[in-house]
Amino acid sequence: MASDRDYSLETLAVRAGQQRSQFNEHSEALYLTSSFVFDNAAQAAARFAGEEPGNVYSRFTNPTVAAFQDRLAALEGAEACIATASGMSAVLSLIMALCSSGDHIVASTGLFGATQQLLGTIMPRFGVRTSFVAQTDVAAWEAAMRPETKLFFLETPSNPLTEIADIAALVGVAHAQGILVAVDNCFCTPILQRPLDLGADLVVHSATKFLDGQGRVLGGAVAGPRRLTDEVFKFLRTAGPTLSAFNAWVLLKGLETLQIRLEAQSARALQLASWLEGHPAVARVYYPGLPSHPQFELARRQQRSGGAIVSFTVRGARAEAWKVVDSCRLLSITANLGDTKTTLTHPASTTHGRITPEQRVAAGIGEDLLRIAVGLEAVVDLQDDLENGLSVI
Ligand SMILES: *Cc1c(COP(=O)(O)O)cnc(C)c1O
Repeated sequence: MASDRDYSLETLAVRAGQQRSQFNEHSEALYLTSSFVFDNAAQAAARFAGEEPGNVYSRFTNPTVAAFQDRLAALEGAEACIATASGMSAVLSLIMALCSSGDHIVASTGLFGATQQLLGTIMPRFGVRTSFVAQTDVAAWEAAMRPETKLFFLETPSNPLTEIADIAALVGVAHAQGILVAVDNCFCTPILQRPLDLGADLVVHSATKFLDGQGRVLGGAVAGPRRLTDEVFKFLRTAGPTLSAFNAWVLLKGLETLQIRLEAQSARALQLASWLEGHPAVARVYYPGLPSHPQFELARRQQRSGGAIVSFTVRGARAEAWKVVDSCRLLSITANLGDTKTTLTHPASTTHGRITPEQRVAAGIGEDLLRIAVGLEAVVDLQDDLENGLSVI
């Protein structure tokens, strides 16, 4: 491709980053090799010293991984991208690359559970402390800033309550003090939201979710300007949470259908959310694509659609919520999301089961809450399945 930036997202998702080998293969090649051979001793020395570009060892670089990185960078509108073994290793690598002992992070309370654990309990052992503030309260982010604040870390929409962080507003506050902004773009993907266009410095992904899209592999990525991704790469090539070539190849193929999947899953999610909102057994629906969402206007400005995650509360408590789960024959009872198969989760007893009941109340995650990650089945079948449980509570 001449210049990735001239093409639209759907074209980039299929074409960007491909480098053909001497065999001129049409589909992207999978390079399952741990190391690469040099022509002579001088070339080996030059490659190791970084004086000559080229592959050395797959903990550092691999052509299949590079193709995935280039394709995702093109989709996010980023200069560069570094792929990692999982979403959590992307978050870890970003923090290890950018923060040192004594630095401070401001993050939202609604972050993915493992990210909260990492920032809240593991990183403090290494002198990196985090203040957690409400996703939607820009003034609270501002008030939490300290002279040693290095990074704002956010995830929007949040899981499972789909609260929206105003990326551009938070970037304004952070950049005024020279603070970097990183956005976990797992729920929207670049198809629905491009944080770098809104001024964010870095985008983080759990590629495990929508980028793969079919629940097959773990992966992650950090995208942004090369001066920052180079720092992430330095950590990664030494510490080693590198993406495997096989997983990169699966993810490359996942990106090719990202746009049509996200649009179809989003459209189904909107239909399902509207139906749930009118259901007598449902107390409240959380979906950014519904006018009833408190941040509907912000979501409309910031995202191309409401996304594929719908949460709702049933009239009742744990027993009623579990009845809906246990009455489903089609929806999968699993915490994964972003799959073509629709999944159903009771957050209070699974993904958010390890936090205290008080923390759950503070986070707004009650026993009556359920989360659906909408896949590609027909909406009518999803409705029928949910109706089995909703009609008897
Ligand atoms: C799943 C998830 C992660 C972690 O990704 P893994 O690939 O499971 O390590 C991080 N952030 C969000 C928003 C997620 O949903």
